[in-house]
Amino acid sequence: AEQKEKPHFAFLPSPGMGHIIPLFEFAKRLVINHGFHVSFFVITTGASAAQNELFLSDNLPAGFHAVEIPPVENISSFFTDDMRVVTRLSIIVRESLKQYLSSLLIKHRPKALIIDLFCTDAFEICKEVSIPVHSFFTASTLLMAFSLYLPTLDREVNGEFVDLPQHIQTPGCNPICPHDLLDQVKDRKNDEYKWYLLHVSRLPLAAGIFVNSWDDLEPVTLQALKENSFFQNIPIPPIHTIGPLIKQDEVITEKDAEILAWLDNQPPDSVLFVVFGSGGTLTSEQLTELAWGLEMSHQRFILVARKPSDASASAAFFNVGSDEDDPLMYLPEGFAKKTEGRGLVVPSWAPQVAILNHPSTGAFLSHCGWNSTLESVVHGVPMIAWPLYAEQRMNATFLTEEVGVTIKFPVVPGEELISRKEIEKMVRIVMEGEKGMAMRRRAQELKESAKIALNNGGSSDDSLCRVVQFWKSDQSLCS
Ligand code: UDP
Repeated sequence: AEQKEKPHFAFLPSPGMGHIIPLFEFAKRLVINHGFHVSFFVITTGASAAQNELFLSDNLPAGFHAVEIPPVENISSFFTDDMRVVTRLSIIVRESLKQYLSSLLIKHRPKALIIDLFCTDAFEICKEVSIPVHSFFTASTLLMAFSLYLPTLDREVNGEFVDLPQHIQTPGCNPICPHDLLDQVKDRKNDEYKWYLLHVSRLPLAAGIFVNSWDDLEPVTLQALKENSFFQNIPIPPIHTIGPLIKQDEVITEKDAEILAWLDNQPPDSVLFVVFGSGGTLTSEQLTELAWGLEMSHQRFILVARKPSDASASAAFFNVGSDEDDPLMYLPEGFAKKTEGRGLVVPSWAPQVAILNHPSTGAFLSHCGWNSTLESVVHGVPMIAWPLYAEQRMNATFLTEEVGVTIKFPVVPGEELISRKEIEKMVRIVMEGEKGMAMRRRAQELKESAKIALNNGGSSDDSLCRVVQFWKSDQSLCS
């Protein structure tokens, strides 16, 4: 009888650690806390050391099965040099699913599939075999609300959204400054926009949408969604607020242990952690300014360094953790010597959650990807916002103006060079100033409120338990 009540679900994230990590955590939670059986389909895109590390079998609970989707042969023949990241991503997913998803579903026989925003080709394939599909939206709820509204905007607005003279008013939500809009909707003629629009216009096909947030972090947007005022004409599936789900039980390699041991020897709240998500890269000129800004601040720091790229701010997106370069090759000469003992440079990838969880970590210079944001807030760490790509400018503004855990530069990184002087100033504000203290207190408040939301009986726990109970009572979902 026990066996009969065990739902078997499959998960399918699109490539990119920022997509894989939250779906992985959600899946683990269903297995560990709710006794599910999970088949976790991962699209292989080549050498991502960080991705491989995640699926080391020691890290997986019983009942969790990682299933590799082999790389599509000759995928690069589908690409042109000017294709942007969401276009590439969508093509990889489309081709992988076309080749493999049906047979995987037949072989593994899950009763439902949970996907992220960029795997919407799965709707069609799953419809043919009558498998319900749920969506896990891995970015902010504000972006989700905007995205659900995008097909309407697309019909009603002529010209570019960025040229609109006023802020964009997603019903019931806080207005968005056109400049902060995600890159994907800033050029409506680009294929990337067409892909994004296609994916978001399929969101209503989901049997339910999970969001990685909680009431105290995004009160306005979540209220708008609950009141339904937002969706006069937009059919939306049930929305389940289950966050913040962040990386747990990170795999700590020997190299990681050295970083943590270094942190053990630093005073409380004294270290600034610097990393730009899984894909972020700076130009060489900007990296030089950053390095000297850190040096001039005289603060302790951990800098995750990646080979600079003048072509793209997300150059490391598909193969992060694979870059074995020596950072000394591209950091300015003399930098290592001048910051010796005070700064630690780590190539490519670091155990972010363990670092944010360490008492010596005092602040985070971050690109403000949604997972990084949640991880910082959950550990009570204030941020310096350095948005680079996707919807990160939106997150930076929201975190600075509404939440109060972040400061941002007066100019936009990537559009203008941020000087070492400005960087030094920002670092000092966060690490030494009264404003930094206030931001840290605010982050601590949210840390407590996140705990409450996830604890037994809290809003996010409740929301997940309710849907799990519903799934378990639906015999067609259990095997
Ligand atoms: N991450 C990490 N080590 C690194 C860089 C990133 O563990 O050196 C993890 C980080 O903890 C987060 C994810 O990668 O869980 C990045 O997701 P996010 O949404 O912040 O940004 P994205 O990579 O999607 O731009």
